[in-house]
Parts: sequence; C-alpha cells; structure tokens
Amino acid sequence: MCDDHPDRPAVVRIQGEAEAFGAKMLDVCQECLDDLPLGEL
Ligand SMILES: [Zn+2]
Repeated sequence: MCDDHPDRPAVVRIQGEAEAFGAKMLDVCQECLDDLPLGEL
C-alpha cells in the first residue's frame, strides 16, 4: 500500500535517504510517483 494513501495499492517501491537503521523504503502509488523527482532513478 502507498505510504500516503492507505487505500491505494503501491505501484513501486523506492529507496529513500539512508538513515541510522538503514535505507528507508517508500511504497508509493502512481499519483505519488508522479509527484516525485525521479531524476536519480
Ligand atoms: Zn499515494
């Protein structure tokens, strides 16, 4: 499920910034994906 929209299925899992306990994984739906800056992917 999307982290921001619990009612929507995630379409992709991306790796966020590395943190003390490891890289944070983000599940995002298509709408959230469209809002993300994806230059690094
Ligand atoms: Zn979303």
